[in-house]
Amino acid sequence: MEQDTIAAISTPIGEGAIAIVRLSGDEAFSIANHVFNGKDLTQVDSHTIHYGNITDPKTNELVEEVMVTTMRGPKTFTREDIIEINCHGGMVSVNRVLQLILREGARLSEPGEFTKRAFLNGRIDLSQAEAVMDLIRAKTDRAMNVALKQMDGRLSGLIRELRQELIETVAHVEVNIDYPEYDDVEEMTHDVLIEKTKHVKKEVQKILQTAKQGKILREGIATAIIGRPNVGKSSLLNKLAHENKAIVTEIPGTTRDVIEEYVNVRGVPLRLIDTAGIRETEDIVERIGVDRSRQALKDADLILLVLNGNEEFTKEDRALFEAAAGMDVIVLVNKTDLDQKIDMNAVKEVAGDMPVITTSLLQEQGIDELEEAIANTFFEGELDSADLTYVSNVRHIQLLEQTESALDDALNGIEMDMPLDLVQIDITRSWELLGEIIGDNVHESLIDQLFSQFCLGK
Ligand code: GDP
Ligand code: ZN
Repeated sequence: MEQDTIAAISTPIGEGAIAIVRLSGDEAFSIANHVFNGKDLTQVDSHTIHYGNITDPKTNELVEEVMVTTMRGPKTFTREDIIEINCHGGMVSVNRVLQLILREGARLSEPGEFTKRAFLNGRIDLSQAEAVMDLIRAKTDRAMNVALKQMDGRLSGLIRELRQELIETVAHVEVNIDYPEYDDVEEMTHDVLIEKTKHVKKEVQKILQTAKQGKILREGIATAIIGRPNVGKSSLLNKLAHENKAIVTEIPGTTRDVIEEYVNVRGVPLRLIDTAGIRETEDIVERIGVDRSRQALKDADLILLVLNGNEEFTKEDRALFEAAAGMDVIVLVNKTDLDQKIDMNAVKEVAGDMPVITTSLLQEQGIDELEEAIANTFFEGELDSADLTYVSNVRHIQLLEQTESALDDALNGIEMDMPLDLVQIDITRSWELLGEIIGDNVHESLIDQLFSQFCLGK
């Protein structure tokens, strides 16, 4: 199939200083060669790197010193011929290189078009394609690992197994519908049907359980710092932001990606709620009052509740515990460098299962313990070490939920002794829904819609 040649700025995560112009398509080599001053790129071996200059063939003007990587299809990401031009002169010069390439016959890629080609050319399946998108958006190491695993095809593998199981179940049902008189055909009794359907449902639920972690990894743990005025909230915020490199994601060439501030605590991405608000107004609790701070707490995944060890444990402190009841809370008793007037027994009693950490933010004491408590709250035991496949994609989650309810319908049908061909409809439907996750049975419009969400250059 002949493909026009697309080009875009495509810069890998975490390597902001280097910018890459990527070309894919039949003319990738000839277009690049036309502007490249160095070896004849059409003659060099595939998958090799070459130093040289990009010059404007019309004016002979030097545009940029570059390294060019040549990759002949089909052993490439898109399965087409790919050229990557590695520029180190920052965004201005990389833009000039791109402009030149476009003038010489390449077309600016649509958002996600590289990945779309990889999908359409059979290089990756849909869930892998979506993992690429998550990878682009991944803001921390852990989130990156999840995306990488998914790209590895683990989710796809799991989904394929479940679909196979459903197909076998449907096949059995069909045998029973078509040949009810055959006694020797293994009879699909209701019990077996229920068992198989329940098993698939359980597996679907397991995958869904990982979704919450997936979301947290992708979007960051919404974290609220609460406490009475003057207990040390701002100090805590600053400590977290300074000790842990705040992560700024900015993907050049895209306007959609806003710059976000994240704090990465031992691989756990914290998104500090209303950071600006807290900074500006100094004390959110003071400003809106304890009652109304309940609302602010509602959206939080994690509460850091700060107390002042240098003062009595007050009614307002208790009110904050009540407001945060049922949530993931870490209690900080701060200012341990001063006289301790707080009743620690009372604190521990109210705290119950919550971890209580003593800190002196002023003297930088207890920060390690706090960070450990944060990491433990979200990645205790199994989650960290288990070989889980996280689903972290909204579309996948919706499809899995629909699958679960289609399986429920099937189970209800079986239990109500509905005709088997009606039960079969629900089972077939769940098979189709799972198929949509990995891109079987998807029609073009869905594909177009999906890929248009990608960033340019991927
Ligand atoms: P917020 O009102 O809760 O945001 O509290 P701040 O972070 O603004 O801190 C209030 C005051 O307490 C400031 O003067 C801080 O320097 C001080 N402070 C914060 N943490 C400590 C601590 O651990 N020990 C001592 N002695 N002072 C602290
Ligand atoms: Zn403050």
